[in-house]
Amino acid sequence: MTQSTTPPADMPEKIRHYINGEFVDSIDGDEFDVLNPVTNEPYIKAASGKKADIEAAVASAKKAFDEGPWPTMLPRERARVLNKIADIVESRKDELAAMESFDSGLPITQAKGQAARAAENFRFFADLIVAQVDDAFKVPGRQANYVNRKPIGVAGLITPWNTPFMLESWKLGPAIATGNTVVLKPAEFTPLSASLWPGIFEEAGLPTGVFNMVNGFGEEGFAGDSLVKHPDVPLISFTGESKTGQTIFANAAPWLKGLSMELGGKSPAVVFADADLDAAVNATIFGVFSLNGERCTAGSRILVEDKIYDEFVERYAAQAKRVKVGLPSDPSTEVAALVHPEHYEKVMSYVEIGKSEARLVAGGGRPEGFETGNFVQPTVFADVKPDARIFQEEIFGPVVAITPFTSDEEALELANNTKYGLAAYIWTSDLKRAHNFSQAVESGMVWLNSNNVRDLRTPFGGVKASGLGHEGGYRSIDFYTEQQSVHINL
Ligand code: NAD
Repeated sequence: MTQSTTPPADMPEKIRHYINGEFVDSIDGDEFDVLNPVTNEPYIKAASGKKADIEAAVASAKKAFDEGPWPTMLPRERARVLNKIADIVESRKDELAAMESFDSGLPITQAKGQAARAAENFRFFADLIVAQVDDAFKVPGRQANYVNRKPIGVAGLITPWNTPFMLESWKLGPAIATGNTVVLKPAEFTPLSASLWPGIFEEAGLPTGVFNMVNGFGEEGFAGDSLVKHPDVPLISFTGESKTGQTIFANAAPWLKGLSMELGGKSPAVVFADADLDAAVNATIFGVFSLNGERCTAGSRILVEDKIYDEFVERYAAQAKRVKVGLPSDPSTEVAALVHPEHYEKVMSYVEIGKSEARLVAGGGRPEGFETGNFVQPTVFADVKPDARIFQEEIFGPVVAITPFTSDEEALELANNTKYGLAAYIWTSDLKRAHNFSQAVESGMVWLNSNNVRDLRTPFGGVKASGLGHEGGYRSIDFYTEQQSVHINL
């Protein structure tokens, strides 16, 4: 059967750049096809930005920064605009989620959750800038010292295709809250929901030129690369693959740009024999199959203590087989279509590699009844050896590797045995073990007997190949501002 889907209402005619308050085509007129992940048919054209388009967008953002008023407005005034943005995002969340789900293949219920979180990101940074305090120190009779905090200039924001609108909001919120102006380069696979930003920002009263957007590809000569290499962009906040992060790091080096890098992961979920097994099975199923497995913090390696290994694998495989694969627009769907045929091919190639490296206990192919589009069965491999490619490499789809361990030491060694270090999940009823393991595990974030929910004030980021720097709470404010210390003799 060929799958079909109806495009959401209010689709733009095509996807264009947004520069200096206007929707515009590429200067050279170049466009590319955006595909519907359920059919892989092109459904809309998007403008493909190059160096000249980035130059126009950066010039607009620089003018808005240099001439104001945005950078010098009071935090409370900027916060009012951010709160309006949040209200508008919230009021349009169904439309937004429908577009996101259609464009990216995310299940609609999960896309709605992401839209709500995008609104929350703006509210959170609105609150934070109003509550901001800066250091002041006094040496009695000698000196007073205080800090001037200043926006930096034009921030370049480069984002991936997984949960695109939410991840864009995670950068846009703090970048503009702190008084910078921005150029956003959304991911080329999923530009649809980003086309809503201009309308939202205009309605909220964001001054012209503060927000600019150039669509298109990342490679040399295209939009992403040109943004990184533009001399008037002192900051780059990037989320994407570790390999792309390395390229951007090198390309930004001649200008010593400020860099924030949220990169890939291969995060372990460690299940000890004393864990609440029901909770651990449910959470580790959610951890790798929600958002189609296209989640940077996915717990894609499950390490299980040998005493409960066979029971865990049996229960896990049975539950994975019950995960409902369906159309993105169906509210009962738990796993829908992967974003793009190129990504589908990559994930499927790992499924084949896995069959030669380990024991397949669930899934392993295309689900029945889905002959077109990027549908993959929730797939579980057991007895995965640490040198297997499916243990070491980020797959970024609904595929999980389960590996047994016999001691705490071996669990730690296995957990740390990849180049990545984004998240770790630990399931045990022994709190002392949980805290000691957290301290030793090489990851930017740890969830103990819990799954992915976090306070936005906490640091978000990875270690090793998973990232550079942290965002979240005041760390985002620090990234998007300069801190100038002022000293006065008394
Ligand atoms: P990607 O690296 O292929 O692309 C990300 C963005 O970078 C896109 O907009 C792309 O056009 C652009 N780009 C590509 N090459 C560029 C270059 N040379 N210069 C400038 N820009 C360039 O990543 P993806 O496939 O879109 O996203 C999936 C990856 O993102 C996964 O590895 C995932 O783990 C990671 N991710 C990480 C986090 C996190 O917070 N750590 C969150 C979400 C996704």
